[in-house]
Amino acid sequence: RYALTQKWLLLTGTVNGLFSLLSVCSDRLMAEVNASPLKHFVTAKKKINGIFEQLAAYIKESSSFLEDTHKNEELDPVTTEEQVQEVHGYLSKVAGIGEVLARRHMKCVFFGRTSNGKSSVINAMLCDKVLPSGIGHTTNCFLRVEGTDGNESFLLTEGSEERKSIKTVNQLAHALHQDQDLDAGSLVCVMWPKAKCALLRDDLVLVDSPGIDVTTELDSWIDKFCLDADVFVLVANSESTLMQTEKSFFHKVNERLSSPNIFILNNRWDASASEPEYMEEVRRQHMDRCTSFLVDELGVVDRAQAGDRIFFVSAKEVLQARVQKAQGMPEAGGALAEGFQARMFEFQNFERRFEECISQSAVKTKFEQHTVRAKQISETLRLIMDSVHVAAQEQRIHCLETREERQDRMEFIDKQLDLLTLDCKSKIKRITEEVERQVSNAMAEEIRRLSVLVDDFHMDFHPSQTVLKVYKNELHRHIEEGLGRNMSDRCSTAITAALQTTQTEMIDGLKPLLPGPVREQVDKLVPRQQIFSLSYDLACDKLCSDFQEDIGFHFSLGWTMLVNRFLGPKNTRRALMGYNDQVPRPMALTPVSTSMPPFPQSSMTQEELMVSMVTGLASLTSRTSMGIIVVGGVIWKAVGWRLIALSVGLYGLLYVYERLTWTTKAKERAFKRQFVDYASEKLQLIVSYTGSNCSHQVQELAGTFAQLCQQVDVTRQNLEDDITDMNTKIELLDALQSKAKLLRNKAGWLDSELNMFTQQYLQQGR
Ligand code: GDP
Repeated sequence: RYALTQKWLLLTGTVNGLFSLLSVCSDRLMAEVNASPLKHFVTAKKKINGIFEQLAAYIKESSSFLEDTHKNEELDPVTTEEQVQEVHGYLSKVAGIGEVLARRHMKCVFFGRTSNGKSSVINAMLCDKVLPSGIGHTTNCFLRVEGTDGNESFLLTEGSEERKSIKTVNQLAHALHQDQDLDAGSLVCVMWPKAKCALLRDDLVLVDSPGIDVTTELDSWIDKFCLDADVFVLVANSESTLMQTEKSFFHKVNERLSSPNIFILNNRWDASASEPEYMEEVRRQHMDRCTSFLVDELGVVDRAQAGDRIFFVSAKEVLQARVQKAQGMPEAGGALAEGFQARMFEFQNFERRFEECISQSAVKTKFEQHTVRAKQISETLRLIMDSVHVAAQEQRIHCLETREERQDRMEFIDKQLDLLTLDCKSKIKRITEEVERQVSNAMAEEIRRLSVLVDDFHMDFHPSQTVLKVYKNELHRHIEEGLGRNMSDRCSTAITAALQTTQTEMIDGLKPLLPGPVREQVDKLVPRQQIFSLSYDLACDKLCSDFQEDIGFHFSLGWTMLVNRFLGPKNTRRALMGYNDQVPRPMALTPVSTSMPPFPQSSMTQEELMVSMVTGLASLTSRTSMGIIVVGGVIWKAVGWRLIALSVGLYGLLYVYERLTWTTKAKERAFKRQFVDYASEKLQLIVSYTGSNCSHQVQELAGTFAQLCQQVDVTRQNLEDDITDMNTKIELLDALQSKAKLLRNKAGWLDSELNMFTQQYLQQGR
């Protein structure tokens, strides 16, 4: 039971809620239905003003964006000077339109002959005695009633800023009467507090004119007061027919304005109540005449719609009733003629039609043109932003392509450079080895042929020390020149060709990687290889500085020579001089010894053993000369004295012969032979050294490669700079593009706002 009660309570609560929601909705609906049609203009004005404010802000934003973009020198132009100027020009235009729109209001001008009740109609509509009536039009000026935000009503006369305070309608009448400065047809503004009158709150301006019958200056009236009027109300007197003056005025208006909105009020209709039997007839007659005037003569309205433009009213009654109501008295109180309610209803009907007509007409005439203009402006801006977007897009694509191309090229250069460096290194290594091999071979060959070179040397030889010194120097020079020449002859052609090929290959490989201008001049940059010339410094004089010739006489069968022949010159000396030490002497230093391979110093154990044996033998023989005599005696006995004498004789003869043939020539030969042996030995030691040392041209090749690589680095740096440049540009273009896109979309949004406005306010009723 408890649960059921709960559900019941919930259900009733929901139903109550629904009822209250419905009542709120219906209240709103009623409020909208009752709302003055003038609100249509008010909301439209608010809306269009809002759109123009947004448009102005948008143009400001677009203008500064275009100016900044145009000034940006980092990018190629994406806007034109004309576009910048055009958008800049819109700034003032739109601001001007905005100001005009903010001042826009609906305007209705009342015409008719004097005392037809124009002032009474205006007062009735304003529900207050605002304008003086009943005393005839006090002046020949136009009275414009307009709302003011303050609580005080005041007068403003044409050409003066002075506000003349008016508290009552009598004061106004008095003021108008007093003001002698007012010309016929001039304008006086009656500023009436909006708080006192609903109509004035809705941007409605009502203009009372002097009687048409009192002026001849209808044309100037039209120019001055009618061109911006949205509705004309002809206040006619139902007690008489339409006068020609009234008709001709509207003919003139119709000529100047296309299809003006004209209402005809047949005023003083309360008078018809006194003769009810003619009322319908009179009404029909008036109706026909007015319809014929509006439809046939002016052609401003269809016959079907004419009924909504012609009304039979009593302004005096309506004003009276409304003033009484405002004072809290009954509306229909006082001495009112019969049929008041019907006339009241007709007046209200007129008001409703009038409001509908004026608000719709005013919205169209006051806002349509500017809406179209705003649409044009937003469309132009959309197109400009579109073109900026497209131009930026194209430029961005170009930058992306360039960046990709540069990156590819850089990658290619890196890979190619690695490959070429490896290739070049191996080529240089190979060619270095080749040069070394060739030079070493040539050197070895030349050493073998050194005796020929030395034999070619001809200079007076003399065993004296001074001559020998000069002789040696000249010989060194001769050998140095000869060796150099011969070796160049042997190697240069092959090596030069090899170097040339390598260099050409190297340049051809690197050429595509070089910067453009350098590529043209690469041949000038790298001179073609000259004929290869060996470059080395044999320094023969230093190499052979410790050469010590031995040109003293040595008998070939002498003891020394025999031992020499048996043991070699070095060991002989040691053997004969009785050296017993096993410590090797330090080697003579040659000028290139720092980098030369060391002399072979392997201990010759066998030879040393032999030497020590013979040395031992010699010392033994010298110490035991007695032993020799004994041996000699034995031989004497064995071979006989003749044979010994013959041998000694022959030995002596040979000695004499050798002694006699030991001339200077022989000495020179001996010298040369000794020198060749010595120099060969020394040169042998520096063969490989010379080979590696003289390949400096190969080193030059490596230098050339390094130099070209530096140029490739320039290309690389250029590419890197390009890529950085492109990155910056792309970033800029990205920002620019998105901004242009945003602004283009904003233009689109403004356009749709304007379309909505057009649909909602301008296309209504078409
Ligand atoms: P205006 O010169 O056209 O502005 O006319 P007024 O509004 O000053 O009115 C002239 C006279 O006509 C005044 O005395 C009004 O009271 C009177 N009047 C205005 N409207 C009516 C009406 O509807 N019925 C009657 N009986 N008198 C009116």
